Amino acid sequence: MTDQARGITRRPDDARPAQLGRRNHGAALSVLRDQLRATGDLPAVDDPPQQAGPGGSHEVDEVSGEVSDDVVDRAVRAFQQRRGLIVDGRVGPQTATALEAARWHLGDRLLQFTPGHLLRGDDVAQLQERLLTLGFSPGRVDSLFGPDTDHAVRAFQRGCGLPADGSVGPATLRAFEGLRRSVSGGAPHSLRERESIRRSGHSLAGRTIVIDPGHGGDDLGALAHGVVEAEVVLDLARRIEGRLSAHGVAVVLSRGQHTAGGDDEDRARFANDCGADLVLSLHCDLADHAEASGFATFFYGEDRFGIWSVIGERLADLIQREAVARTGLVDCRSHARSWTLLQHTRMPTVVIEAGYLSHPGDAARLRDQTFRDDIAEAVVVAIQRMYLGDEDMGGTGLLHLGELRKFMESLAG
Ligand SMILES: [Zn+2]
Repeated sequence: MTDQARGITRRPDDARPAQLGRRNHGAALSVLRDQLRATGDLPAVDDPPQQAGPGGSHEVDEVSGEVSDDVVDRAVRAFQQRRGLIVDGRVGPQTATALEAARWHLGDRLLQFTPGHLLRGDDVAQLQERLLTLGFSPGRVDSLFGPDTDHAVRAFQRGCGLPADGSVGPATLRAFEGLRRSVSGGAPHSLRERESIRRSGHSLAGRTIVIDPGHGGDDLGALAHGVVEAEVVLDLARRIEGRLSAHGVAVVLSRGQHTAGGDDEDRARFANDCGADLVLSLHCDLADHAEASGFATFFYGEDRFGIWSVIGERLADLIQREAVARTGLVDCRSHARSWTLLQHTRMPTVVIEAGYLSHPGDAARLRDQTFRDDIAEAVVVAIQRMYLGDEDMGGTGLLHLGELRKFMESLAG
C-alpha cells in the first residue's frame, strides 16, 4: 500500500494549502521549475520538449512555452517519492526544504560549522556519509553541518596531516578522493548504534524515554467517527507512561492536555534537549476512503544513502509485532522514512500510526479502553524486548509483562 493509500494526511506539509497548481503561476512556479531541473526531475532547458502524445495531455504550455503544470506536478511527486516524503505533489515546508537542500553538491561551496546558522544541503549529507564510511563520527546523516560534523571533519583533517580548521575546501576534498574506503559492508553508524544499546545493558530503569503524542493545542489532528486524534494519542501516551514509570523509566511527554507540542522540528529539539534514549511519537491515521485500516510504524532511514537507524527499525518491528498480535489489527508493517522528526532526533525514534480513524472498525477499537491498554502493553513489552536483545526469547506476540519481569529477574540472579 502506498503512503497515499494509507492516508497519512496529517503531516505539516498537508496542513498548509501551499499547492503550486494551475492557479499559481508566476515567480514561485518558475523557481520551482528551476529547482526541479537542478534535481533532474525536469529536463534541462535546452533539451527538446516532448510533444503531446496521441490524444494525450500537452506537455508544453501553449502560452508560456514552459512545461505544463501537470508535468511539474509529476516531477514534484517523483522528487517526493525519492526523498521518502509524503507523495502528494504539494510543495509544503518539508518538500520546500528538501528542494532547497537538493541543489548543493559536494564541492559547490566551502563547508564549515557556522554556529547559529547551520549550513544545510545534500553536499553536507554527502560529506557526512563519506566521514561515516571512513570511520569518523559526524552524527546522523541529517544534511546539517553541526558541531558533530565539525568535530569529525577536524579529526579527519588531523588524520590526513591537513590543518584541522574544520572547513571543507579543495584540499580536504582531494584528501577524501585519495583515501580508499577503510570500512566496508554496511553503515558504521548503525554498528555503533547497536553497540551502544548492547553496552547500556538490559534494564529499563534509569532510562529516559520521550513520548510524543501528536498534535495538541489548537491542532486536534484527525477527527472521525467521534474520535479526536489529539485526545486518543494523549490518553495512549499516559497509559504507556504509567507502565514505563513502573519499570523505573523517566518518561517525558512532549505536551499535555492544553499545550501544543509545536512542529516536528520543535519536538525533535525537545527530545534532544531531554537527552532521551528513545522517542515514541503517537498518531492515528486518516484515509479519504473507509477501507484503509491497520497499524503501522516508522523509523529513520534514507534509501539514497543506504543508511537507516538499526535500533529504530528493530524497535519499530517489535512494536509492530506485539501490537498486531495483541489487537488483531491489520498489519501495515514498519517502514523507513526521512520525516523531520525521525531525521532530527539524535536517538532512535519510532512513529506509531495506531489504526485509522476513517475506518469504522479501527475507530471503534480506539474508543475502547481495553484496546488502548493492549497497545500500551505492546509498546512497553517491545521496548523491554529490544533492550534484552532477545533474539533468543523465541516466539512473538503475547508475552506479558509478568513473564518478562521473571525473565529479567532470572538474568539478574
Ligand atoms: Zn497525527
